Amino acid sequence: MSKRKETSMGGITVPGGGAAITVPGGSAAITVPGGSAAITVVAGGAGFIGSHLCRALLDKGCEIICLDNLQTARASNLRALEGRPGFTFVRADVVQPLPAAITERTARIDRIYNLACPASPPHYQADPEHTLLTSVVGTHHLLRLAEAAGARFLLTSTSEVYGDPEVHPQQEEYRGSVSCTGPRACYDEGKRAAETLAFDYGRSGRAEVRVARLFNTYGPNMDPDDGRVVSNLICQALADRPVTIYGDGSQTRSFCYVSDTVDGLMRMMEADIDGSEPINIGNPVEITVNELVQRVRRIVGREVTVVHRPLPVDDPRRRRPDIARARALLGWSPKVAVDTGLAHTARWFAEEIGVPLHLAAAQAA
Ligand code: UDP
Repeated sequence: MSKRKETSMGGITVPGGGAAITVPGGSAAITVPGGSAAITVVAGGAGFIGSHLCRALLDKGCEIICLDNLQTARASNLRALEGRPGFTFVRADVVQPLPAAITERTARIDRIYNLACPASPPHYQADPEHTLLTSVVGTHHLLRLAEAAGARFLLTSTSEVYGDPEVHPQQEEYRGSVSCTGPRACYDEGKRAAETLAFDYGRSGRAEVRVARLFNTYGPNMDPDDGRVVSNLICQALADRPVTIYGDGSQTRSFCYVSDTVDGLMRMMEADIDGSEPINIGNPVEITVNELVQRVRRIVGREVTVVHRPLPVDDPRRRRPDIARARALLGWSPKVAVDTGLAHTARWFAEEIGVPLHLAAAQAA
């Protein structure tokens, strides 16, 4: 039986530091908990997406435990959450057995979001063994918690399970083209194994599971030193440094603003679906890295110089989600246009790194 009282609500307000925006919840209202004794655990809750998810859950009146080892999380993400009613932070690494601060509350836990894992290529490749174990052992620990608690479990998997895809756009049925020996394998194969564990728990009735495959996500609360393309390009442009394009810039990605991603995750957690299939969460608007540079240049309102760097090993040539399943099952699709999201993100980074942003461009965007 559900431990929580359910309240149906409409839109989600997703704050983004100085650039708070209100994003409509779309046609299908999200049903989320309100005012019960139930606890939601957010593993990786101090990270980029996790911190937005924690904030959105707190805004809905949830009691949450944010579990994070602070390996790649920014302290300021956490500071913005600490002190809010219903928020508890527990510093722990999911690779280790879960601490008593979690297990002693098992009876009250009824939702577990697992976002724990470094997600930017430079970060997840810095300690590949730990990255793999975070996905595999960490997911195992959290699934066992879900089983003991009778909680619903949501794994944030990744478009990286499709590798360098031969099928385009990527539907969930596509099994992927992943190297199990290359430098990205620690992340890709870790997430694939985590999915395997989650679906085995689901199939055998040990836990109710959901698996979200997140495509590239961006927005406020990213680490300026994350090494990902959106944060790199914006921070470089703001600082009048050359922007780095890896390879010839013809590779594509599809960028989803973080409030849309969080909306998708919350819908998936609360949706009345059987959870036996993964669901892509991403923005199907596909652009090349070269085009992203031009958009950033326009939004930041500065001329940029470009420096080319070698394309990283196994860098996927193209990526775009097919989101038909998310539309059908969750009533979800992204609402924030890429230029709007980039403008919010640029404004946030400008504040964060203390660089003035060209006002006309920022307001016009
Ligand atoms: N990239 C780039 N310049 C940068 C950082 C990344 O051209 O400063 C490229 C990278 O090679 C990849 C794409 O941008 O093709 C997206 O990279 P990111 O690290 O953001 O995420 P990925 O989708 O590769 O995990």
